[in-house]
Amino acid sequence: MSVIQILDKKFEPYISYNEIELAIDKMAKKINDELKDDLPVFLMILNGSFMFGADLMKRIDFPCEVSFVKVASYAGTKSTEEVKELIGLNEDLKGRNVVIVEDIIDSGLTIDGILKDLKNKGVKSVKISTLLLKPKAFKGSYDIDYVGMEIPNDFIVGYGLDYNQLGRNLKDIYKIVE
Ligand code: 5GP
Ligand code: MG
Repeated sequence: MSVIQILDKKFEPYISYNEIELAIDKMAKKINDELKDDLPVFLMILNGSFMFGADLMKRIDFPCEVSFVKVASYAGTKSTEEVKELIGLNEDLKGRNVVIVEDIIDSGLTIDGILKDLKNKGVKSVKISTLLLKPKAFKGSYDIDYVGMEIPNDFIVGYGLDYNQLGRNLKDIYKIVE
């Protein structure tokens, strides 16, 4: 692995696919222990979580469903407030146990919006799984149940994560070179 260029920015190798897999192994083990009797719906938050979601699901060993949504954000009624709405949710999640599958949690705002939306839809329970968490940036007031790795506030790409839509296909994770 070496330094790569995407558009105007340079990125250096940061987390190898091997390390990613080890982190997902651990998360999956915990999920397999804790949620095996829940018949959950794993809800992947596109686009970023497609690689993580696929690798996580291969390790889940109990009956479950998988669904996919995108998050649309737009300015809310108050100028400071971001409203995040789930789009593409075809399943009826009323009374279901939902596991959110996210690539990375930064400020926590995206998941906050998703949680509100899911509660309005009458879900029974929500668990949150994320491959990466930036604890120093996180401002949410909810618990994150399954975290693969904690990282500093650096901008990263690869393994589903993009820079201006590029870099999602990289197998490993790269960090921006300041
Ligand atoms: P939050 O709402 O928690 O602040 O941000 C979550 C979303 O911001 C993620 O789903 C992801 O799309 C994006 N994001 C946060 N940090 C990074 C990063 O370091 N790199 C990339 N590519 N996206 C990020
Ligand atoms: Mg995301």
